[in-house]
Amino acid sequence: MRSERRPLRLKQYLAFPLKHDGAHTLGIVVLRVVSAFLPTAKMLILARFVDEALRELRQGAISEKLLGIAGMLVGVLLLGKAVELLMSYLSIHFSTLVSAAHERRLIEKKSRVCFSVLENAEDYELMCRVMDDQSDRMVAAFENLMALAECLLRILFVGLAVAGMNLWCGGFLLAVLLAILPVAKKCGGESYSAYEAATKYYKVSRYLRRVLSERDYVGERTQYAYTPHVQELWDEAQEQARLKMKWATKKNMIRTKLLTGAIAVFAVLLYGGMLLPLSRGDLTAGDYVSVVTTTAQIISMLTWSFAILAEKFEENQRYAEDLERFLDLPEEQAEAAAEQRGQLVLPTVSQIEFRDVSFCYPGCEQPVLNHVSFRLNKGSSYALVGKNGAGKTTIIKLLTGLYTSYTGEILVDGKELRDMDAQTKQGLFSVIYQDFARYQLTVRENLTLGCPVPPEESAIWQLVDSLDLREKLDGLPEGLETNLGRLEEIGIDFSGGEWQKIAIARAVLKRAPILIMDEPTAALDPLHERAIFQLFAEHSKNASISILITHRLGGIRSVDHILVLEDGAVCEEGSHEALMRQQGLYAALYTEQERWYR
Ligand code: ADP
Repeated sequence: MRSERRPLRLKQYLAFPLKHDGAHTLGIVVLRVVSAFLPTAKMLILARFVDEALRELRQGAISEKLLGIAGMLVGVLLLGKAVELLMSYLSIHFSTLVSAAHERRLIEKKSRVCFSVLENAEDYELMCRVMDDQSDRMVAAFENLMALAECLLRILFVGLAVAGMNLWCGGFLLAVLLAILPVAKKCGGESYSAYEAATKYYKVSRYLRRVLSERDYVGERTQYAYTPHVQELWDEAQEQARLKMKWATKKNMIRTKLLTGAIAVFAVLLYGGMLLPLSRGDLTAGDYVSVVTTTAQIISMLTWSFAILAEKFEENQRYAEDLERFLDLPEEQAEAAAEQRGQLVLPTVSQIEFRDVSFCYPGCEQPVLNHVSFRLNKGSSYALVGKNGAGKTTIIKLLTGLYTSYTGEILVDGKELRDMDAQTKQGLFSVIYQDFARYQLTVRENLTLGCPVPPEESAIWQLVDSLDLREKLDGLPEGLETNLGRLEEIGIDFSGGEWQKIAIARAVLKRAPILIMDEPTAALDPLHERAIFQLFAEHSKNASISILITHRLGGIRSVDHILVLEDGAVCEEGSHEALMRQQGLYAALYTEQERWYR
């Protein structure tokens, strides 16, 4: 649900540009004010020119005075062109600088928001709305604000000047302005509401576009030939979004057209009415001509560009509200602490305890963990075992702080995890996730991204050897500096297993006291799988606590302590031998797997 409406948010569109490109912003503001005054100047000079020309025509001679006024008229026209040119020049600098700064701010924020926020549908949609056309929005909103302010100033200057000549006409301009404002506001509000409603469908269509076009899906896309089906789903989502927008646009158009028609009728009546003071001599011919031409221009501006600008302004107000809510989203503290990465201290840990922990995923009612209790002690290795969906990965997500909405306690050396500061938490874990990331950066960056300080070259190569990667890396054109992926011209891709080894090396090189491996051998052949389990066993001796999740039960025989999970609770625990003697779930899983290898 949308938060309560708040007052004008001009500061978003003024303070941000001023901060990031003060000189050009101020330049544009000054030029807009000058530009706003030009129609009034033109109107006043034109009135004088017409009156003087008529007078001199009657006398049959053209004076220098008339030429002077004509020169002033040309001067104003030239000034208008110069202002336009200068404004375009400043706008180029302004828009590139401000849009880059705005985009950076959004991406930085998005990279910091809490993991749980990404899983909340409402917040996710808010992010989609704010991030869409991310860079252009801020510049477009500023330009809209400036154009609107210029329009209002133009009307004010012209209105005052016209009121000086004819009060009725000045009053009429003001009345038109007052009639247009609420209509435009309503149109803008409805446009943005339609956009809000359409985001749900845009979100789906954006995902489907990825399935249809991205490299990750190319294998299955070709194999299963699902493109026409997904294309249909994409068309459907696009159509739904289009329909939401179409109704709002149609309604707005009808409203604006009705209003414009009414204003045009009143304008004709007014110009007719002004013939009376003209015939009485209360208004000069010059005043009449210049007032009619200028107000006609202003009215057409009011009913067309001003209405659109005011409508857009209302949309931008709503965008600013969304932007503020987005910028207020809770951040992952560990990300915020990333700036002090170089000073990250890797703590020592003696014990982790889950004390009666229960947990439901946000938006779900069914608990995934049910009163889970266990202890992990320094110097030992542990394995989490259980059927799919038993809750193993969820335990790791809670332990690494991705979710904090559990009940019970997770204690690290007696201290509740939720109460620890971001930096300490960040230093606790080295994790290899099941869905590890593949960074399209150099091999070195892929290996060392997690290290608070760059590791020794010898440590990197020792690990490369134990993962059997030396030959592969030696064969790369630029060794560790070779780019992986396809972003660069020379980009090398790895196999799934090689990428997994790189992810393992990244975690191990961090040397945090708690090492967690979630299915680290899923993409590896049996020989390399064995090497990983050996690496885990070796590392367990160095790291304080090591935790392994795997379905390859042969690899965990040497693990000190095994926790068996079923339906979100620990149902058995002990060493491999003890669990086999128990003849429970672990023994059943192990025996079943062993049978395959006989
Ligand atoms: P395991 O690692 O033991 O295979 P998980 O811990 O990944 O199991 O998942 C446990 C249960 O939680 C599963 O039933 C799964 O459907 C559910 N689950 C996992 N992630 C989410 C999520 N982000 N939102 C809702 N439910 C989830």
